[in-house]
Amino acid sequence: MTITIRHLTKSFSADTRVVNDVSFTIQPGEMFFLLGPSGCGKTTVLRMLAGFIDPDGGDILFQEKRMNDVPPQHRNTAMVFQNYAIWPHLTVYENIAYGPRAKKLDDDLIRQRVMKALRIVRMEELAQRKPAHLSGGQQQRVALARALAVEPDLILLDEPLSNLDTRLRIELREELQRIHLETRTTCLYVTHDQEEALSLADRIAVMNQGRIEQIGTPSEIYDHPANEFVARFMGEINVLPSNHSLAQMLNAPAGRKVGFRPQSAQLVSEGVAAVVKRSTYLGSKTELLVETATGEPLKLWINEAITPGQTIHFQVASKNLLLL
Ligand code: ATP
Repeated sequence: MTITIRHLTKSFSADTRVVNDVSFTIQPGEMFFLLGPSGCGKTTVLRMLAGFIDPDGGDILFQEKRMNDVPPQHRNTAMVFQNYAIWPHLTVYENIAYGPRAKKLDDDLIRQRVMKALRIVRMEELAQRKPAHLSGGQQQRVALARALAVEPDLILLDEPLSNLDTRLRIELREELQRIHLETRTTCLYVTHDQEEALSLADRIAVMNQGRIEQIGTPSEIYDHPANEFVARFMGEINVLPSNHSLAQMLNAPAGRKVGFRPQSAQLVSEGVAAVVKRSTYLGSKTELLVETATGEPLKLWINEAITPGQTIHFQVASKNLLLL
């Protein structure tokens, strides 16, 4: 289903707009991300789509139908939260059956829906367990299955992986990708984790202080950030003021702030000279903190060990210079 929001606004107090003129369209089957720092308003947008909060202004459309005044239970959305929100006294099966039962489907169809959802999240064997006997990752799979079982037009995911440790988070991220490819349910996914967004999203809207800064595919956002906020939020970056002598040495166009990511620097025999101040081995790469002759501190990621005190020379390909 196509989900459109137009010029959405929301304030909780007279002096700040938590959501300020937000517009975007989610295409049918798309995994659309709202990404931004804590407090930027992304959960408020999600809650307005679910119908838990009324917008002050703007429109919410499911296909052509305006949904602003439709109560949450009639929107055919499902939510997956960070804290799972599954019922501890019900088995996995009963948790998943809850939604289809509330829709008063007949018993056969409920069973079919539950078994299908269990199969998709690969939890068939654990159908009769209670949540207390499941790991965090398994509980989140149940929450996901419960959302899928109502066959919603839109799944709203609010930081669904935040409570999991790093290994499980990556594992479940891959699962989410597989499940989304299999079901192609339209999803709005809210997170502050750029890696999650880059790895899972079809498109990302980057939010800051109630506004959308940029909408694009992961590579558009990462490789062609619209401004400095987006560039910095999406990952480590070295930023140089316009017309800085170092920017000129890197052949950057005049009159624009320019940035480059630490991995874009290449060690060469003739290039910008810099003294290594600190060298940190990080397994997959070595992070150098260097200082150029102009006193600029820069972060470079390379694949070799270099001891502090040495002078290196580096260059950045013009395609990797980001104009901000
Ligand atoms: P987080 O990742 O921390 O949840 P967020 O980007 O999802 O952040 P929101 O939860 O949408 O941000 O909150 C945006 C701002 O609105 C915050 O400053 C928050 O304190 C405020 N806010 C949210 N809900 C309410 C409410 N019901 N009443 C008053 N203020 C609220």
